[in-house]
Amino acid sequence: MNAENRRVAICPGSFDPITLGHLNIIRRSAKIFDEVVVCVMLNATKTSPMFSIQERVSMVQRATERYKNVRVETSDILLAEYARQFPNAVIVKGLRAASDFDYEFQMNLINKKINPDLETMFLTASEKYTFLSSSVVREMATYGADLTGLVPDELIPEIEEKAKLWRKN
Ligand code: ADP
Repeated sequence: MNAENRRVAICPGSFDPITLGHLNIIRRSAKIFDEVVVCVMLNATKTSPMFSIQERVSMVQRATERYKNVRVETSDILLAEYARQFPNAVIVKGLRAASDFDYEFQMNLINKKINPDLETMFLTASEKYTFLSSSVVREMATYGADLTGLVPDELIPEIEEKAKLWRKN
């Protein structure tokens, strides 16, 4: 297939850390699109992340390595600018609740102003992950709660370790 006909999905987020909810959206996007670029955003508005950008990228890479058409990148520029490098790219986001919708609707309008060709598509969150967010995971980890079923199993020790350090500070 020639490069211009390839349909690319961009799944952006801060992934601090990646959860099974994120992974569910990435996996479903990988079935629909030829290629998925997971973009770990530096995100200037979210201050003091739990994990560094390198740690977040590394965790997303490990969680997605079994999906052959998924790759992981990072960006410190606006998503609408970042997306210009991919012809025909579509932003794919997960929608959990009405509150997500309000925020995403606003973001979509801003993105369209900057880059009118850029489309955003939404996949509804899987029922079992509707209440899952990175902030829930950070909070549970800080209290030493069991993270099984919230994040990929292979990442649990690393998240627990970080939460211990986090608690001390
Ligand atoms: P969070 O909202 O967990 O802090 P991000 O800012 O990294 O996560 O979100 C990136 C994208 O992933 C957003 O489109 C968000 O709606 C989606 N997302 C996050 N958690 C879930 C979930 N549990 N189910 C579906 N989509 C999700």
